[in-house]
Amino acid sequence: MSRPQSLRGRSVVVLHAHPDDEAIFTGVTMRRLADEGARVVLVTATLGDLGETLVPLRPGESLVQRRTAELERAAGLLGVTRLVLLGRRDSGLPGAADNVHPDALAAADAERVARRVAAVAEEESAEALVHDDASGIYGHPDHLASHRIGALAARMAGVTSYQTTVDRDHLHETRPHLVHAAARATALPFGIPAADVELMVAATARELDTKRAAIRAHASQIAADDVAHAAFDEAYGFEWYVRSGPAGILDELGDRGAAELFSAPAPVS
Ligand SMILES: [Zn+2]
Repeated sequence: MSRPQSLRGRSVVVLHAHPDDEAIFTGVTMRRLADEGARVVLVTATLGDLGETLVPLRPGESLVQRRTAELERAAGLLGVTRLVLLGRRDSGLPGAADNVHPDALAAADAERVARRVAAVAEEESAEALVHDDASGIYGHPDHLASHRIGALAARMAGVTSYQTTVDRDHLHETRPHLVHAAARATALPFGIPAADVELMVAATARELDTKRAAIRAHASQIAADDVAHAAFDEAYGFEWYVRSGPAGILDELGDRGAAELFSAPAPVS
């Protein structure tokens, strides 16, 4: 079933800290924007160079090369029309010495990086910028930096900003979600209470399949078991936002997936 391309000619910039954040936190939103004709520009600030790998690398292959390839594959699955890499270094967990490495995203001059992101938004005539919420979703220094940079860039470009977050009440019920392990690693709370969520995008079954495949594309970081469990649909079937500025393009996406996924059998498409 194809949908009318009602967002043709419009564009959105989505800023994330690491490869895999795009799939985990905003995969359904990006896929739906693309399916409805919008240009989706993904800006990824670091290549997650401090992560470890769950899979053997090829001879001569670096983790950054592997993660770049994984990001490109996930971006393709999610309908990204342009991928921009900011080339900052992963900052590591809160308090790590890597936080203050001169190339670390967390140590970057937020205004300077924001000017680059705002320039992308202007080149693309984007009408909205998606970035992390004020607590960095789970407090990771790179996600906090991505919040500062995204909020500044949205102001510079004069566009609505959608802060990606998670509904902690919902995820308390569903478990498990990768954010649980991530928050254990930072030893900080994650997300926001359900009452503070301003916009929810609920996935259709097909969008959720794509989101799972995009998460799985990051095989060096995420084990198959992490997304193969029975509660996957409920844990990953929603994406949550807090908005700054007037209602915009993401508000037009609606939550049409909810009824399909959780109230009725998925239609054959
Ligand atoms: Zn991340």
